[in-house]
Amino acid sequence: MTQVAIIGGGIVGACAALAAQRAGFTVTLIEPETSGGEQAASYGNGCWLSPSSVVPPAVPGLWKKLPKFLSDPLGPLAIRWSYLPKVAPWLVRYLLSGWTEARVMRTGHALRALVRGAPELHAALAEEAGVSHLIERRGLLYIYPSRTDFEAEALAWRVRGETGVKWLEIGEDELRQREPDLDRRYRFAVLVEEGGHCRNPGAYVAALVAQAEAQGMQRVYARATGFTIEGGRLKSVSTDQGEILADRAVICAGAHSRVLARAAGDSLPLETERGYHAVITDAPVGPRTPMMPSDGKMSLTWTETGLRVAGQVEIAGLEAAPNWKRAEILRDHLLRCFPGLPREIPTEKIKFWMGHRPSMPDGLPCIGPASASGDILHCFGHGHVGLVAAPRSAELVSAWLTGVEAPFPAEAYSPTRFG
Ligand SMILES: Cc1cc2nc3c(=O)[nH]c(=O)nc-3n(C[C@H](O)[C@H](O)[C@H](O)COP(=O)(O)OP(=O)(O)OC[C@H]3O[C@@H](n4cnc5c(N)ncnc54)[C@H](O)[C@@H]3O)c2cc1C
Repeated sequence: MTQVAIIGGGIVGACAALAAQRAGFTVTLIEPETSGGEQAASYGNGCWLSPSSVVPPAVPGLWKKLPKFLSDPLGPLAIRWSYLPKVAPWLVRYLLSGWTEARVMRTGHALRALVRGAPELHAALAEEAGVSHLIERRGLLYIYPSRTDFEAEALAWRVRGETGVKWLEIGEDELRQREPDLDRRYRFAVLVEEGGHCRNPGAYVAALVAQAEAQGMQRVYARATGFTIEGGRLKSVSTDQGEILADRAVICAGAHSRVLARAAGDSLPLETERGYHAVITDAPVGPRTPMMPSDGKMSLTWTETGLRVAGQVEIAGLEAAPNWKRAEILRDHLLRCFPGLPREIPTEKIKFWMGHRPSMPDGLPCIGPASASGDILHCFGHGHVGLVAAPRSAELVSAWLTGVEAPFPAEAYSPTRFG
């Protein structure tokens, strides 16, 4: 029986493990921590299952806005200056990937293939794992101070339109009715009805992993460090707990995948875009539908544990300590959005978190075989869309394992695109 090792038990690894089982393989999950625990981006994300997440982070003209973003202490983007020399090559690639509208549109189509139908796919996975209450499909709302602010994002909505995303425009009166607690400075909104959200991403990942275990998956608490490859064939995955025999392996270690990719023969430009969240428990008011304010670029979503505001991009590497000011920026923006929230929140009622988005410079994940052995698959680098894109990524893992044609074109995710 072919032994498949899945390295990393975040949402991408959890979905890959279930897909490998479904395809008839024997699976071992290698993960040193709790699956869906606080160390994983999959724990603390914005919860959005957004089929409209098709606009890459870098768009034409971003370089002109960069100085303003970076000098704005309340802005959504920050770079730790001491880290700049290290990250400069990645940043250059990042800006170039969004240099023209044609490039952004190409990336948009590739992202859409990964996020299309995601709320339904997640709902089916959650049902099988006995946690259907964790997935809700009530749409996603983008809110703007005015229609003009919406029109200022014409490129983003053009990409969404061309890739098949549908939306409804909502005027001021209807917005008041839909969202009575929202600050009155927002007077226009766009509703993406096909969107959904997860009410507890960490618990969801844990439930998927538990289901895979119940179906016979072996769970090993270990950190993968490399591979033993003989004559191009994988023999085992090396870990801090010893060798684990495997015929095939899938690297799903999120932002920590770079070292493993190198051990599999590929030097890939994976960076971490650090993000933050704040969760307020017992919040008296909040959004009826998950929403993203255009002036904060953050998601506001009710979860099982409270009202979560998530966002921010901080380029500072894997090692630097969190800068909790960035979480406070999110909290303060949330308070400005909902004037009915208490101005002073006791520390026991608010929890901050920082995590690592695994980001490739062009906004697309790396999904494809490794150079050192065709038995190893890269499947990481999902950046801002890992939660929503995990089930479709797992379809590609399954196709690779079974040797059938990918269910949708996958060239855009090839690790070889970085030369
Ligand atoms: C603030 C924020 C908001 C976000 N909002 C959204 C959103 O609304 N919607 C969305 O779709 N995406 C969102 N994202 C992105 C999404 O969370 C990530 O893309 C996704 O969680 C990545 O999943 P992953 O499984 O690749 O990595 P992770 O969830 O980070 O999991 C990687 C796992 O690998 C393990 N690991 C690390 N090294 C090793 C090793 N050597 N051996 C074995 N295991 C290892 C880790 O312990 C970890 O459990 C957001 C991210 C952030 C930070």
